[in-house]
Amino acid sequence: MADKKTFYITTPIYYPSASLHIGHAYSTVATDAIARYHRQRGDETYFLTGSDEHGQKIERKAKAEGVTPQEYVDKIVAGFKDLWKLLDISYDGFIRTTDDYHVKAVQKMFKKLYDQGDIYKSKYTGFYCTPCESFWLDRQVKEAGGVCPDCGGPVELVEEESYFFRLSKYADRLIQYIKDNPTFIQPNSRTNEMLQNFLLPGLEDLCVSRTSFTWGIPVDFDSKHVVYVWLDALSNYITALGWGSEDDSLYKKFWPADVHIVGKEIVRFHTIIWPIMLMALGEPLPKQVFGHGWLVLDGGKMSKSKGNVVDPVALCARYGVDAIRYFLLREVPFGSDGTFSNEALIARINTDLANDLGNLLSRTVAMIDKYFGGALPAPAVTADEDAALIALASELPAKVDVLMNELHIPDALAEIWKLVGACNKYIDVTAPWTLAKSEAGQERLKTVLYNLAESLRIVAVLLTPFLTSTPAKMFVQLGTAPAQASLNAVAWGGSVPGSQVHKGEALFPRIDVEAELAYFAAEADKAKAAATPATEPAPAAEAAPAAPAKHGHGDDEAPAEIEYDDFAKIDLRLAKVVACEEIKKSKKLLKLTVEVGAETRTVVSGIKQWYTPDDLVGKTVVLVANLKPVTLCGVESHGMILCASDAADENLSALTTLAEMESGLKVR
Ligand SMILES: [Zn+2]
Repeated sequence: MADKKTFYITTPIYYPSASLHIGHAYSTVATDAIARYHRQRGDETYFLTGSDEHGQKIERKAKAEGVTPQEYVDKIVAGFKDLWKLLDISYDGFIRTTDDYHVKAVQKMFKKLYDQGDIYKSKYTGFYCTPCESFWLDRQVKEAGGVCPDCGGPVELVEEESYFFRLSKYADRLIQYIKDNPTFIQPNSRTNEMLQNFLLPGLEDLCVSRTSFTWGIPVDFDSKHVVYVWLDALSNYITALGWGSEDDSLYKKFWPADVHIVGKEIVRFHTIIWPIMLMALGEPLPKQVFGHGWLVLDGGKMSKSKGNVVDPVALCARYGVDAIRYFLLREVPFGSDGTFSNEALIARINTDLANDLGNLLSRTVAMIDKYFGGALPAPAVTADEDAALIALASELPAKVDVLMNELHIPDALAEIWKLVGACNKYIDVTAPWTLAKSEAGQERLKTVLYNLAESLRIVAVLLTPFLTSTPAKMFVQLGTAPAQASLNAVAWGGSVPGSQVHKGEALFPRIDVEAELAYFAAEADKAKAAATPATEPAPAAEAAPAAPAKHGHGDDEAPAEIEYDDFAKIDLRLAKVVACEEIKKSKKLLKLTVEVGAETRTVVSGIKQWYTPDDLVGKTVVLVANLKPVTLCGVESHGMILCASDAADENLSALTTLAEMESGLKVR
C-alpha cells in the first residue's frame, strides 16, 4: 500500500512588536490557500504558523509599558490568533518561541552544535540596529553610509562576548546543494541573488548569542548568554513537530517541509542560515523556500517601522473575509510586489466578485426559478456554443492544479475567472430570456441553464481553497448535494437534474465607490488625529483638507492652550489661486494650483460643495504651507487652504485678506 502523500507548509513566525498589518495577512492567507488546496486533494497536510517572541526590542517595549515581556507578548499574540480566526486561517499548529518544548529543544540544539564544534565562543564587535534586531559588520554599515543597511536608522557600536556558529564551514556544501536543487529557492531569480550576493563572496560566522539583554532562551551551560534570534526563530519549523522532544512522531511524518512561505526580506536567512543549521544537525533540508513580494502601499514597503499600516480587521468587518482573501490572493503577483489601495480593493470587489461572479449566480438561479419552477432542467437541445464552454470547464481543474503546484495563486484564480467570464458571454450569446418566449426555445433553454449551473458548480468546487464561505453559499443556491461539492466530482456533468435551486442574497453587494472613498478619507483622518502628538501642527487637517469637517463642534471642545512656539511651527502663507478644477471622481474635492511667491504648487481642498473653480481663480487665500503632502484621489496635495465654517458645515468661506497683498507673504 502506497504511503499517503504528506504536505508540510509554514508561514514565517511573526514578531509581536505591534499588531499585524495587511502584509502579514497576505503571507498567511496565501499559505492558507495552499494548505487548503492540498487538503482538498487529499494530501495529509500540516500547516504551521506562530510567533517569534524573544529579543531586545520586546524587552524594551514591555518595559516602556510597565509589563513583563511575557505579559507583553501574551497580549499581542492573542491578537494574532484573533486575526487568523477572523480570516479563517486553517493552521494545524501555532508555535510560540516562548513555548516550553521549543525552549528545551533549542537548548538541546545549541548544546549539540557546541559539543560538535560548530558553535564556539569569541568576541563580537559590530553594529546593532534595535528596530531590525540585526547585527551589521563594519563594512556593511560603512557601505550604507553609517546607518542600518535595512532600515536606514541609527546603529549602536557594541562589543561583547558571544557564541558563533560556523556558517563558513558549510558554505561549499550549501552552494552545491543549491546548484543541484534548482527549485529549492523560488522564484528562481532569488537563487542567483543568494549565490552572487551572499554565498559566493564568502560567509562570515554567525553571532548566535547575546549578553546585552535577557529576554531570550538561556544557553543552559553558560547562563550569561541568551540564544540570539535566528537560531531560536528558524528552528521553530522543526521544534513545532517535536524535534528534540520525546514525541517526534510529527517530525518523522512531515519533515522535510514541502515549502516555507516567507517574505522576500527573509529569504536570505531561510536559504543560508537555516539549511546550514540543518546540515550541521544532520537533518534533511526543506524542499523549497518561496520568497513572496511585498504588498506595498503608496509606493513604499508596508512595514510597522514606517507606520504605514492598513488594518485587516477593519477591512474584514467592512467587506467580509472572502472579499479580503480574494483581493490578497488575486492582486499580488506571487513572487513579486503588489500594491494595496482602497480603490483597487473596491474595484476587485465590484468587478470580479459582485458583477462577474455574484451576478452570474443570481441570474442563473433566478432564471431556473422563473422558467422551471426552481428545478434544475436536464440538458436537452445542444448548440455550437456549448462545446467551448464545456471544454473550458472540463480543462479547468487540471490547469488550476498545475498553477497551484507552482504556487501561482493569482494565475489560478485568473483561470477560474476565465470560466466565469465565458459563462457571462454565454448568457449574452444564448439570450435565455428570448428562448423562454417561444415553445421551440424551451428545449434549448434547458441546456443553457444546465450548462450555466454546472459551470458555476465547478467554479465553486475550485474556489473552495481560496474563499471560505462563498463556495458553500453557492452550493446552497445551486442546490448542489455535498457529494457533488467535492473535488472528486469536479468533472463536467456532476449537477443532478431536478435539484432544487434556492434564490439567495447577493454573494457580494456592490459598493458605492464614491461614498466608500469618502469613508476611507474620514477614517484616515481620525486615525491621524488620534495618533499624532498634540504638539504637531493641525494633524487632523492633513488627510482631508476640508478643514471644517475635522474640527467638529468647536463650541463644546475648546482646544487646549498652546505656547507661541507651537503656533510658530505652522507656516501660514498667502497664496494666489492661478487655476482650479474639479476632481471628477470626488463629490468633495477641488484641485487648486496656487502661486506662493515664486513657487507654484497643487493643493486639494474639500470645498467643491461651496465653490466652483471659477469662484476661486484669481483669489488670494491663506495656506498652511508646511503641512506634509498627502495624496487624495490620486492627486498630491501640498498644503491646506484655511476656511471658516459653522458646525453643520452649511456655510463655509475661505479666508482672504482685506487688502490686495502679494502671494508668499507670511501670515502671523
Ligand atoms: Zn535597522
